[in-house]
Formats: sequence, structure tokens, C-alpha cells
Amino acid sequence: MRTVRCELQPGVAPGVHRVVSADELAGVWTPELRFLVVANTPEEKAQAERLVGSEVKNVAWAASADLMAGDVVTIDTARSKVVVLYRESDRHHSLFATNRCNSLCLMCSQPPTPQADPWLIEEAMVTLCHMRTSPAHLGITGGEPTLLGGDLVRLLRTVRALHPATCIEVLTNGRRLADPALASMLFEPPVENVSWLVPLYGHASYLHDFVVQAPGAFDQTIGGLLALQEHGQPIQLRIVLIEPVLQHLKDLADFIARNLPFVREVALMASEPIGFALANRELCEVDLLDWTEVLTGAVAIFRRYGLPVLFMNTPLCALPTGLRGFAHQSISDWKNVFAAECENCAAKQQCSGLFAWHERGWKPTRIQPIQELV
Ligand code: SF4
Repeated sequence: MRTVRCELQPGVAPGVHRVVSADELAGVWTPELRFLVVANTPEEKAQAERLVGSEVKNVAWAASADLMAGDVVTIDTARSKVVVLYRESDRHHSLFATNRCNSLCLMCSQPPTPQADPWLIEEAMVTLCHMRTSPAHLGITGGEPTLLGGDLVRLLRTVRALHPATCIEVLTNGRRLADPALASMLFEPPVENVSWLVPLYGHASYLHDFVVQAPGAFDQTIGGLLALQEHGQPIQLRIVLIEPVLQHLKDLADFIARNLPFVREVALMASEPIGFALANRELCEVDLLDWTEVLTGAVAIFRRYGLPVLFMNTPLCALPTGLRGFAHQSISDWKNVFAAECENCAAKQQCSGLFAWHERGWKPTRIQPIQELV
């Protein structure tokens, strides 16, 4: 989560607010929402103080150069900061629905917690109301969103009602989707324009179950994928490239091509060096250039069967020339950095770069500036 330190109006209430400039407030004010006016100059602060002192009860002010009009934030009064829940100018947007999960993946970037966290889904719902624009794509993440059951359905239907043109992408391990009761809630009728992003880490149960640290998960995920297929739902399969997965990646590509030909595309993803990945470093840290033969072979299998494939979170210099055209710029804006070496790289504009926390963890390859983009 991206946090912004700021000077907050004394006594401001915690909770979700839309950030506005003092000039635009009059044109957008409505009693149903809460507004945080950016007051960085003495004049703006005086203007905001006059508003706050009036009968208008749902307006407060904050001073920070890092707040932007259109942000949706939640205020943490105890720590004089706000957490940015939505920033219009970002390329990637997501709502965090729960921190609970029924898996414990070796490379999980967001280690789950067991406690109930119903306030997160309510925060997501209020965030949707405070967004002044509709993003082209909106991810629903966790944790495992399907653990929310009916609340996930409520969230999806709220997104659809408030942001009708937004493509929704649910990141799920798929294990609960074969449950007839949940499938019936989700798909009868289905919410329009939803894609399902489902990880699969092995061609056999022993491997997938080991990677997600959950016995029985492989069979459940396959059941979930078949349920999605039955209900005509688009699926992106996700494969995180850690060592146990890379060891058998070509077997997995073959399994997917033969048994799951209905998936829309397959995403091969460099591991994020944070969370459980740090604790399981010996299994998660790889230099992708050392796996060129495996990656090239897996992509060839997907292409032979006509399955679209892409790389995510993968710097271009981690890939051989022939695979660079499959790479997407996928790292969320606030997590995305480049190394000093990148300044001399001809491919920087097209490259996904690195996760901001690579210095505490590792880079997905030895960074080598590309002289010429072919
Ligand atoms: S040197 Fe930097 S910008 Fe160039 S391909 Fe590698 S990571 Fe990307």
C-alpha cells in the first residue's frame, strides 16, 4: 500500500475520502461522500478552514505535496498519514478485498493473516463510491477473494453498477470456484466483463500442492478452472517463475496446452522479492537468463497449440531477443523502479523494470543495458 505523510486537519475523522483541490470542491461536493481538500499554501489552508468551520460536515483538509486531486485515500489519524487506495494517474488499479487465504504459497508477496477482516471489503465498497473516474481495468486482490463468498459477489456487482465500462480482474487461486453454491452465486447470472487470473504451478498435484503449501489444492484449482470454463468465463493462467516451477515448466506448458486449451492466455511472471519469497529465498531466487532454454521451450509449446503467452514483471534483459516481444510492462506504478544501469539502456521505455524492493531481495537477472532494441 502506498502511504503519504501529511499534515492533517486537527480532529479529522478517519476513513475514506476523495482528495480535491479547494477550487473544485464547490463543483463536486455532495453529502454522500467525504472530501479531503489539498491545502498546501496559507491561502488554501485559510479557504479550507472557512469551509470546515461552516455547516459542511464532510470536508477536511490536508497538506502534502504528494496528494493528488482525484486520489481516494483512507486517513490514519494516529500516524499523520493517508493510505492511497486509488490514484487516477496509475496504469494499474486494484482493490484489496481480504488478507485471508487458504494457501501459503512459497513466494507469496502478501503473506496472509487468519483473522476476519470484514472492514476491508467495506473499505473497498466505499472506495468505489469515491472514485470520480472509472479505470479501464480494476483488479480484485487479497488474500483469496473467493473466501468472501457472497461479499465477493456484492463487490463485483457494485463495481459493475458504479463503473459499468471497467474490466474487472479477480486474482484467485480458484480452489473454491468448483463449490456449486459459490459458483451459483457468482455465475447465475454472471457479472459482465470479469476475467479470472488463476495461478497454476505444476503439471501434477505433488508440485502444485508443494508450491502453494496446501494438500489437495491442485485438484481443487483444476475443478475451479473447469467451473470457469463451464460458465464461459475468461481465464488468464499465471505461472510464477521460481525454481521448482522452472524445473518442470515445459511439462506444465504441455499439460496446459493439452488439458486446458480454453484458457485465454498464459502469463509467465518473475517472482516478487518480498514476503514469503524472502523466507524461501533458496527456492525463489533465480536468474531468469540461466533458464533461457526452458523459457524458450515453454513458449514454443504454448505457441504450437495456439495459446497466447506473455511475460510479466520481467525486465527485457532477462529474456533472449526472441522472447522480448512477449514482455509486458506490468509492475504497478508505485512498486516500479529502474536500476542505475538502466539509464544507458535503449529498451528502458519498453521495459517493465524492477520491483522497488529488489534491493532488500534480489533482481530477476543480472542487469545488462540493451544497446539496440530489435
Ligand atoms: S537494463 Fe534496465 S531498462 Fe534495460 S532491459 Fe534491463 S532492466 Fe530493463
